[in-house]
Amino acid sequence: MKYLPTIGLEVHAHLATKSKMFCGCKTDFGAEPNVQTCPVCIGMPGTLPVPNELAIDYAIRVAVALNCNITQVTYFDRKNYYYPDLPKNYQISQSHNNLGDDGWIDIDIDGETMRINIDNVHLEEDAGKRVHSEGSGTRYSEVDLNRTGTPLLEVVTKPDMHTLEQVDAFMNDFRSMLLYMGVCDCKMQEGSLRFEASVSVAPEGASELGPRCELKNLNSMKSVLKAAEYEIGRQTSVLKNGGQNKQETRLWDDERGVSARMRRKEGSADYRYFPEPDLILLNISDERLARIRDELPEFAGRRSKRFQTEYGLPAYDAGVLVADAATADYFERLAAQTNDPKAASNWIMTEIMREMKDRKIEIEEFSGKVPAHRLGALIKEQKSGTISHNIAKEVFAEMVETGEDAPAIIERKGLRQISDTGELDAVVEKVLAENPSAVDDFKSGKKQAVGFLVGQIMRETKGKANPKVVNKLLAEKLG
Ligand code: ZN
Ligand code: MN
Repeated sequence: MKYLPTIGLEVHAHLATKSKMFCGCKTDFGAEPNVQTCPVCIGMPGTLPVPNELAIDYAIRVAVALNCNITQVTYFDRKNYYYPDLPKNYQISQSHNNLGDDGWIDIDIDGETMRINIDNVHLEEDAGKRVHSEGSGTRYSEVDLNRTGTPLLEVVTKPDMHTLEQVDAFMNDFRSMLLYMGVCDCKMQEGSLRFEASVSVAPEGASELGPRCELKNLNSMKSVLKAAEYEIGRQTSVLKNGGQNKQETRLWDDERGVSARMRRKEGSADYRYFPEPDLILLNISDERLARIRDELPEFAGRRSKRFQTEYGLPAYDAGVLVADAATADYFERLAAQTNDPKAASNWIMTEIMREMKDRKIEIEEFSGKVPAHRLGALIKEQKSGTISHNIAKEVFAEMVETGEDAPAIIERKGLRQISDTGELDAVVEKVLAENPSAVDDFKSGKKQAVGFLVGQIMRETKGKANPKVVNKLLAEKLG
């Protein structure tokens, strides 16, 4: 008997607003515990929530990008629970009337388009964090309420995925969309982007899905894939042994590579959802919706195709460049500066990416050191023959270090390429006179001897000789 796994994802993303969802507290990561709090977010009686307009805009932006139907008149619900890190003991969320429903996103699997349906997109607030002190002796947790009330977007997919490859593609594409829209910093290690996977396994051809397990504590995309793989194996072997799987929530242990039952899954009735009485209806005007639709960026997939047609880049280059929106922006500025897209792409994919890796910086910081117009000036110097490619790399390193302009460095260090035939002629004569055996080798048919002679000429001129002129001179003199 063959078994078919089915996977759905639930995504939680912190919206990148400066303040919280229902109060003015900051949302910075890593602040001293409990300093980013106020009576509203710590749930003092008598306080009232005030919604964050920008967070609502961001949430609509995602819902629109995911092709959802937008509920223009909607409201928030209270989700009641015992939350040690959300002192109100309810989360303001949406249950009955989500901001967005029935959307989809197309992902690319080996060149084939696959549509993943989106069940809903809704807006809520995050809970705080329980901090478990280091060491084994402590029998208590501490609570940090800085995160309490952070705007949180939840996206729920339909159970449309059946392979890990599809899950991986969805996660990467969705993350890329969030980054392109600037609505989430997507730092999984800081918890700004979290995935939970629902996995079920059923005999192939079965009319119903098996009971699903929700996997929690997945701190990276890699853990999502590892946990899903483990869970598919576990459920399949239960079925193979004649057993039955149960609907439950399981906690993933990344270090041990296993999941363990956390709790039997509550039904949604257990949360006693009811409309949040402290907030009025959320009314999204046609104008607001139209403005947000207009502001949607060109996403990575389409941008990559444009880079191939508009700039004539190979698919590989285009894919690397659009993986990060800011890198793609830098490329477009550089290509405009140099009128040579392929040279721009080569510089980014080799020199710039190496510098970023060595210095552990992102393109934004790099661009602060060497803006596209300055690198463009360097590439122009190289293309006009003022300097060779190797010297250009040397100048580039200096630019990153000092922030100086390329022409200034070339002048200061005397790096201008020697293209003057008269000047080079003397050097070539000298090298030929000093290396009679290489000359003999060449004349007796060892053509590679010319490489040695060019090397010697480069050494004499500290790399500044124009290779074209040198080769021409050598050809003349060696016959
Ligand atoms: Zn607050
Ligand atoms: Mn949620």
